Amino acid sequence: MSQPCSLCQADAASDYTVAPRADEIALCPACLEGVEVGPSDDPHWHCLHDAIWSTTPAVQVVAWRLLHQLPAAPWARDLLDIAYLEDDVRGWAEAGLPDDSGIEHRDSNGSLLAQGDTVVLIKDLPVKGAGFTAKRGTSVRGISLVADNAEHIEGRVEGQRIVILTKFVKKS
Ligand SMILES: [Zn+2]
Repeated sequence: MSQPCSLCQADAASDYTVAPRADEIALCPACLEGVEVGPSDDPHWHCLHDAIWSTTPAVQVVAWRLLHQLPAAPWARDLLDIAYLEDDVRGWAEAGLPDDSGIEHRDSNGSLLAQGDTVVLIKDLPVKGAGFTAKRGTSVRGISLVADNAEHIEGRVEGQRIVILTKFVKKS
């Protein structure tokens, strides 16, 4: 008897080890392919809306990694913004993210920044095109790292997603 897929509940799932830990979850062929070769923005992945809230950490980890590989999909970014993972689960998830860029994002003090960190602005920053100034001391939660630019992160300030230079932030 086959077990249902941990992500989308389809039948005929097989075991998948969520490295670097030894936990196993069940994945159907479609989900397994997404995990192994990277997902495309397909309606199939709307199953992650539920999976990201799974009470099984290994399922959350895989859902989180898949969402991170859909940077062009607004729904995936929004879901990542509200997703909550315990610190150790987040560390586990980040440990398995494909990272071939070798780019490191560091704040004004040289501290390494990670996806999802909270940072504080260390100076007033006029936001081009948005007509407001992001004030010094503003806390920006759940930042994203811009993959191809070590000096850029993204975060939401006053409800708008903006690009911020890493030299103007401090990890909090
Ligand atoms: Zn599946």
